[in-house]
Amino acid sequence: MNFETKRNKLIDKLKKNGYISNKKVIKAMKKVPRHLFVSKDLKNESYVDKPLPIGKNQTISAPHMVGILVQELNLTGEEKVLEIGSGSGYNASVIAEILHKGKVITIERHHKLADKAKENIKKSGYTEKIKIIVGDGSQGYKEEAPYDRILLTAGAPEIPQPLKEQLKENGIIVAPVGGRRSQTLIVGKKINGKIKEEKKGGCAFVPLKGKYGFS
Ligand code: SAM
Repeated sequence: MNFETKRNKLIDKLKKNGYISNKKVIKAMKKVPRHLFVSKDLKNESYVDKPLPIGKNQTISAPHMVGILVQELNLTGEEKVLEIGSGSGYNASVIAEILHKGKVITIERHHKLADKAKENIKKSGYTEKIKIIVGDGSQGYKEEAPYDRILLTAGAPEIPQPLKEQLKENGIIVAPVGGRRSQTLIVGKKINGKIKEEKKGGCAFVPLKGKYGFS
């Protein structure tokens, strides 16, 4: 079975199992080649629904989790999106595939991972729509604020205050919030300057480090 067939099968399974239903998300995940975001020795596992190591003790999230996160962003395709935790660059690319007008700004604290993500994004053809920044994403990225959507792909002790401030009115923030090992997925909407939070269930992300993360 070639990669494309394996990918389509996996995404159909995620749909059948109820993880994703949004047509844009399904279409994007069927298009973005996850095998280009992992190392050579892991390519054969890239269409199995599990996280995979990407170096520096970090992981590319499991496909069902990427599907859930992107679906919760409720994208129209015209947003400016801030992602905290570029990792492999895969999640940012799935978002970029949905955007026909907007762009993704993604922040990674590890230089090495950011360089690799840049390479992966180039190979997959999303360079034009994604800007990668090296730095502490727990502080957001003021230079391009405000954002229509903010996504954290690392678990935070709470939603970092600067991210709340950098979100546009009516904007959506999706964040795993809780402990270092397990969190609750929070979807927040900014209404009248305040974040109205909704809990979406348990998840397990690597910890967010930095000023507003874990030490
Ligand atoms: N979105 C990624 C992908 O598609 O491969 C997976 C992200 S991985 C689960 C979490 C990432 O968050 C790691 O690469 C980690 O280095 C990064 N990270 C943790 N704390 C950070 C911070 N304060 N600023 C930026 N990146 C951070």
